[in-house]
Amino acid sequence: MARILVIEDEIELARHLRTALEQAGHTVATAYDGPNGLALARSDSPDLVILDLMLPGMDGLDVLRALRRESLVPVLVLTARSAELDRVVGLELGADDYVVKPFSLREVVARVRAILRRVEAVAEASRLTERHEPIVLPDLVIDPATREVRSDGRPVQLTAREFALLWFLAANPGRVFSRDYLLERVWGTESCVGERAVDACIARIRKKLGGAGSPADRIVAYWGVGYRFERREGDR
Ligand code: CA
Repeated sequence: MARILVIEDEIELARHLRTALEQAGHTVATAYDGPNGLALARSDSPDLVILDLMLPGMDGLDVLRALRRESLVPVLVLTARSAELDRVVGLELGADDYVVKPFSLREVVARVRAILRRVEAVAEASRLTERHEPIVLPDLVIDPATREVRSDGRPVQLTAREFALLWFLAANPGRVFSRDYLLERVWGTESCVGERAVDACIARIRKKLGGAGSPADRIVAYWGVGYRFERREGDR
């Protein structure tokens, strides 16, 4: 069914996870520390990553941060530290879901199934409106093939999520999208991140585009509603 990477240093637990996931029909790769996990995530492009937060070599939060800079791969976090959860699942780190230790294997398998289902639903929806040509506006260029963004001619580095959100808004200019809808399209339908994640992501995009007085002004907020990407005279 899916190719899953398990990053977990407790060898017994990693083995149990592997067995349970394989019984559910998945193919499983295992890494026992952060650096190896990250290397496998890069080389194998798994469909989903199960990531323990307490890891030797490299903290799980750093692994998550590194993953999120380069990919939208769904991440299910395993943690014993419930105090971290807001940060992990919510705003800046963008895990897709979490389970708190101790957990049942059955619960993990169910969460994995739910995540994969919603990722597939979003992918399906995206395919319907797929376009690969760059969006070229007088002040802003967005190229989905290379993921390059130029704001007033200046290259802008966006994370995969930030790019996906900007791309979606700019590909559908003039329409107001609710935070809920953007969550569904960019994060997934049953995602556990809240609407504040959309606001935070928009704020980061705006800042990177150059803030007020820059092409960032094209992203217009409708308070209590959502966001719209503004068309302007001179746009094609
Ligand atoms: Ca651990």
